[in-house]
Amino acid sequence: MEITTELIDVLRQSKKILTISHVSPDFDAIASQLAAKLALEKVGKKITTYNESGAYPNMTFLPGVEDVVTRLHPRARFDCTLLMDAGTPDRFGKVLNESPRERFGTLIKVDHHLTGSAFAEMEYVDPGRASTGELVMDLIKRYPIELDADIALNLYCAVVTDTGGFRYSNTNSAAFHTVAELLQHGVNPWDVTTRLYENRPEAELRLLSLVLKTLHVSHSGRYATLEMRCTDREAAGAEDYMTDGFINYARSLSGVEVAIFIREMIPDKQFKVSFRSKGTVNVATLAESLGGGGHHNAAGCTMKGSLTEVKAILYRIVDAKLPKSASSKKSVTAKRAVGKVKQAKR
Ligand code: 5GP
Ligand code: MN
Repeated sequence: MEITTELIDVLRQSKKILTISHVSPDFDAIASQLAAKLALEKVGKKITTYNESGAYPNMTFLPGVEDVVTRLHPRARFDCTLLMDAGTPDRFGKVLNESPRERFGTLIKVDHHLTGSAFAEMEYVDPGRASTGELVMDLIKRYPIELDADIALNLYCAVVTDTGGFRYSNTNSAAFHTVAELLQHGVNPWDVTTRLYENRPEAELRLLSLVLKTLHVSHSGRYATLEMRCTDREAAGAEDYMTDGFINYARSLSGVEVAIFIREMIPDKQFKVSFRSKGTVNVATLAESLGGGGHHNAAGCTMKGSLTEVKAILYRIVDAKLPKSASSKKSVTAKRAVGKVKQAKR
């Protein structure tokens, strides 16, 4: 999708601009908003940066993050609203439904998800791009507004996290071109790595150790699940946002094509479910069938019911998608054979 002249005209003509990203934001969501804020402020716009959940404590190094608000002034009105990093209205929380539509001005969606509906008046959506941050970079360049070190740092964090450090299947030449340009504006990759990945609170590792104990590998060997109960999180003294990345341990298993992480939100009543795929399975459609959405290889949804009920539904759906194949039977047999050899050696 191209950036239309009309879209740029709306931005140019707007004085007050609101940005909203999805609830339980990841770095791409918040950093995209902050890059847009810092850029548009340079051309005299008044920007409100809203997220229902707010920015998480591990995001405090992002330039501009102190201006993220979790409430809007009841009488605040905007000339346009940028809806970032999600495809459907419900993902932005209650705010869109709670207020009269007019207060938001022209709705402009900026997103890279595969699933979603064209509900906004204007859209810059491209599922072929690895991050929303890259789409924000396109908008900044098209306006045009000059990049600076703070904007570049936000955009770099968006790309590096959404590509899993340039490892996920969404990593492409456009992403590398973007970050090559960002490095010319003063981004230091190791400094960002330290802040993102070498700075974990102890509670996170304690929680990971509890979650890994729940590992379940399906009979077919083709999918694996991990679970987290509220009591685990409390026992570790951890917070929900710290579980980002845990699911990759389940996906990393040899033979596993789909990983599922079931996170308890309301004890035995409501669960946040994450999916990751590393093969041909499109987990976006899988999540969509359960009321959620996402990308081909990373998606999520919310499920109601007890843990037993939620797992039964998930197992049924994923078992149907990933039946025990002839090759997986072989690999299970092979594993047994390896086990026997090991036993014989002992
Ligand atoms: P995560 O598992 O990291 O929460 O999310 C993976 C991907 O799926 C992200 O791109 C996220 O935006 C999307 N996603 C997660 N949960 C939901 C959901 O409940 N609904 C929709 N539509 N997308 C989701
Ligand atoms: Mn994203």
